[in-house]
Amino acid sequence: MKVDCSSIIGFCSGVERVLELAKRLLESNEKVYCIGELAHNKHVMEAFKAKGLVCIENASGQEPGVAIIGAHGIADSKRSEFERSGYTLVDGTCPLIHVSRSLIIKNAKHAKACLIAGQKGHAEVEGLMDTWVFEGVKAPAFVVESPEDVESLPDGLSYFLLCQTTFQTDAYEQIRKAVLDRFPQAKCKCTICNSSLKRRSEASRLAHDNDVVVVVGSERSANSKALASLVEKEGAAAVLVDSLEMLPSLKSAGRIGLCSGSSAPREDVMAIKEALENA
Ligand code: SF4
Repeated sequence: MKVDCSSIIGFCSGVERVLELAKRLLESNEKVYCIGELAHNKHVMEAFKAKGLVCIENASGQEPGVAIIGAHGIADSKRSEFERSGYTLVDGTCPLIHVSRSLIIKNAKHAKACLIAGQKGHAEVEGLMDTWVFEGVKAPAFVVESPEDVESLPDGLSYFLLCQTTFQTDAYEQIRKAVLDRFPQAKCKCTICNSSLKRRSEASRLAHDNDVVVVVGSERSANSKALASLVEKEGAAAVLVDSLEMLPSLKSAGRIGLCSGSSAPREDVMAIKEALENA
């Protein structure tokens, strides 16, 4: 059976970059810490852990050493805590997330509070929420998850809206409209990254042309879950699988599409494609 595959598979540039950094650090260090996860993929993380990568959340509880910051970035207060505790930090934050950080700082210097359209608790959003304008001085910021959140924003502030790089376009547009309805002077910039936009556009095409779309990605990966819900919203069935072992039998599924989140390795996607085609 022929499988309709997305034109964009494999790691995004941000994940590719942080994995390469970690690989190089592990070549010259016996042990390297990683703050959080490098990629939301079990197999990738297991392979790195076998080479000496140790995932940690806090600066205390282990001997300080070299620590890499994941692609989503971290809060500035956390960064400062690690530095004060004696860690040597290597910044694996995706350059596109640094663009959002720079926008927050620039706008804070112009007395604008930042609105971050995104998921509360997501690592990128948590990091952006704690962006320092100057050493120890946090930029004013609010997370806006839905248009309803706009109603509770304080009056008397001047606002700048941006979004999580993997946020859904329609959700951002609804929030932007609600922000401009209430604060017509607000400035807005959509900061969804190109990799996310292209993956969504392909997932949408696959959902139109197929009965089932297999999405390769972890349950912990926000962008993979967003692809699966987009597929369902467009009327096809979505099957989210982390690896080939999780793939159910789809022999009688009809036309099958295949796409992947930004933390799924190309080899895993190709192995799943081959298994589906040979079933
Ligand atoms: S999804 Fe986009 S913003 Fe996030 S790490 Fe990948 S390229 Fe960077």
